[in-house]
Amino acid sequence: MIPYGRQDIRQEDIDAVVDVLKSDFLTQGPQVPAFEQAVAKAAGARHAVAVNSATSALHIACLALGLGPGDLLWTSPITFVASANVGRLCGADVDFVDVDPDTANMCPQALAEKLAAAKAAGRLPKVLIPVHMCGQSCDMAAIGALARDYGVKIVEDASHAIGGSFEGKPVGDCRHSDITVFSFHPVKIVTTAEGGVATTQDADLARRMELFRSHGVTRDPALMEGESEGGWYYQQVELGLNYRMTELQAALGVTQMTRLAEYVDRRNALAERYDAALGNLPLKRPGRLAQARSSFHLYVIRVEAARRRAVFDALRAEGIGVNVHYIPVHTQPYYRRLGFAPGQFPQAEGYYAQAISIPLYHGLTEAAQDQVVAAVEKALA
Ligand SMILES: *Cc1c(COP(=O)(O)O)cnc(C)c1O
Repeated sequence: MIPYGRQDIRQEDIDAVVDVLKSDFLTQGPQVPAFEQAVAKAAGARHAVAVNSATSALHIACLALGLGPGDLLWTSPITFVASANVGRLCGADVDFVDVDPDTANMCPQALAEKLAAAKAAGRLPKVLIPVHMCGQSCDMAAIGALARDYGVKIVEDASHAIGGSFEGKPVGDCRHSDITVFSFHPVKIVTTAEGGVATTQDADLARRMELFRSHGVTRDPALMEGESEGGWYYQQVELGLNYRMTELQAALGVTQMTRLAEYVDRRNALAERYDAALGNLPLKRPGRLAQARSSFHLYVIRVEAARRRAVFDALRAEGIGVNVHYIPVHTQPYYRRLGFAPGQFPQAEGYYAQAISIPLYHGLTEAAQDQVVAAVEKALA
């Protein structure tokens, strides 16, 4: 089976992790700050906070922005469930903004209309989470301008998009947002096995996310109420969690990050090869946004909805590990119980009905890619 995604692990990664095992620190040592620095540098951000998953990073981002009961979070229906769930975990209500059918990214026009209606109804969201689907940035200039106009905070879910850029600047520099979140799950572009990082330019937000990552506890006298009682002293000043990343994970991330440009270049080259090879088939290739360079976490083709299931099954039968990203979140049973129903976000539902993710990862050979193309051709014939 050719999988749809796969990590790239080299001897230098293995050596770095083994070195940590032999060192004094399995957690809370020097590797996490080194990994945070590597991500901050690649993203063009002043601050980076590493945690044990992107889900945790989205959660502490929302906590740091003060999202709570009575508040509202909006995200895209075409995403992994975590982008919406973190709102619920903060006790907030969740709603969705429909996508652009070409890119599956949050549609600025739909957002503008929904914000105007929400303002009229007196219920604006506190936090907006646009999702950079497949590694291609949303139109953050348009989304950021709208959020500023309406006083809405933005957390970019860039789980797919490390190494991507928008307007020539790296995704993660938060030029049009408050916080950006990356995932380091093995199917993503760079891995720490499990892991997430939140970047920001705002020192205060970074400090608050660090607190929420680790029990809300601080040893920094500047953050305490009253005086320190001595060298042993700590205070709990917020209600936090234990979302810390281990040193083993961070060491893996440090060596992986040195290859970020290589990974993204290779994925783009493979995507261009797919674009060329699939050009004459009855399918839609990924839509491109002129201002963005995708990191190509995923390559999603779209086929006639009535044939999607048969094409998917035929590809699996040929040993091609295709997948579907994503089932619209509002149609999940949990969200239906909250009152959502199919038909509410027609562009997202239409995209889902046609989508098939075909294999794309750094180690995919051109021969294996040709096998995928031949199988797609055969399945569509
Ligand atoms: C993978 C992913 C997440 C969750 O990432 P984890 O690191 O697995 O918690 C969130 N949002 C999107 C869009 C993702 O693809």
